[in-house]
Amino acid sequence: MSSGGRQDAESESLEVKILREKVKLLTQAKVSLERDLEYYRGELAKLLSPPYIEAIVVEEVGEGKYLVRSSSGPNLIVGVSENVDKSKIKPGATVALNSRGSAIVGVLHQRYDPLVKTMIVEEKPNVTFDDVGGLESQIRELYEVVILPLKEPHKFAELGIEPPKAVLLHGPPGTGKTLLARCVAGVAGVAFIRLVASELVNKYVGEGARLVREVFKLAREKAPSIIFIDEIDAIGARRLDLGTSGDREVQRTLMQLLAELDGFNPLQNVKIIAATNRLDILDPALLRPGRLDRLIELPLPDTKGRLEILRIHTRKTPLNHDVDLREIAVITEGFSGAEIKATVTEAAYLALRRGSKTISREDFIQAAAKVKNRAKSPKTITAHI
Ligand code: ATP
Repeated sequence: MSSGGRQDAESESLEVKILREKVKLLTQAKVSLERDLEYYRGELAKLLSPPYIEAIVVEEVGEGKYLVRSSSGPNLIVGVSENVDKSKIKPGATVALNSRGSAIVGVLHQRYDPLVKTMIVEEKPNVTFDDVGGLESQIRELYEVVILPLKEPHKFAELGIEPPKAVLLHGPPGTGKTLLARCVAGVAGVAFIRLVASELVNKYVGEGARLVREVFKLAREKAPSIIFIDEIDAIGARRLDLGTSGDREVQRTLMQLLAELDGFNPLQNVKIIAATNRLDILDPALLRPGRLDRLIELPLPDTKGRLEILRIHTRKTPLNHDVDLREIAVITEGFSGAEIKATVTEAAYLALRRGSKTISREDFIQAAAKVKNRAKSPKTITAHI
């Protein structure tokens, strides 16, 4: 080839190379632009599509139609879009309706009020009756009326008897009501949901009734489960007058609780344990048969009970040889379980302050005196009222 011909061939192959490179870059740019286009199309579709309406399924009314309560207000009878799994459409399920509200187009996950999530939920409390001192007869009764029906409901069905749905623990503060309820859930191996009634009405004005409803829903979902309603007197006190809107709010919350109690089957695997320090002020409506009709009293522990509680709370505590827990059980006369626990903690602090690794008799005596004085101080008394 002449030198001119070689030069032509070389410049041509350079041009091809450059063009190939350009094609490659343009192909890459095309892919990237197509991706962007896809994204903007999707966004545009979202912006243009009308919103869905949230609704709760009430019941199936036949011929593939459902009665739903829409979040916008009215009850509607609607059909179901072809792509929806009909087995998931059950009473109580949350569904999405198309914007005209004429058909169910999706079934939503069960959602709970964020406030319900703040309730204490323990899947299976890690406490047993060995952690409870001096409440043998109460434990026996709770075993029969709560644990047995949860574990072996068929036995009750066979005998044709109905165990109580709900139990009320009552007694002075710190006598182990919460502890016992947690133990029942732990021993039965069920979820424990704790609801503090005073928080329901104090914190969430206007929300009490809805929260009660949601807690029962949560309990049914977590079943077998126990709902523990602490300080039930905060919503269940006898009604004197309904003067203020706050009183009416409490009243609405109580009515919802009564409706929930009336509405469920005693053999269902959800049980209610309520607790109060003020049985005397409870509304009789709460104590009617079928509601909180089984009362279990937790009195202040006697000497034997106090000794057992002392033993439980000193299990891991090194004691001096001069300590006789029977003597401490005598000097803590009138103490609740919580106060006995506080005495042990206080005695341990005294030992620590002395630089000792064991608790002495004197530590206990001083600690008991301190706890007794604290119990007498007006601040603590008001806290307990
Ligand atoms: P309140 O009415 O003030 O809510 P409560 O009756 O629910 O009180 P708990 O909260 O169960 O009392 O008791 C507080 C703590 O005291 C428990 O966590 C436990 O450590 C101790 N305690 C109370 N009673 C007993 C008991 N009988 N045996 C062992 N410990 C106990």
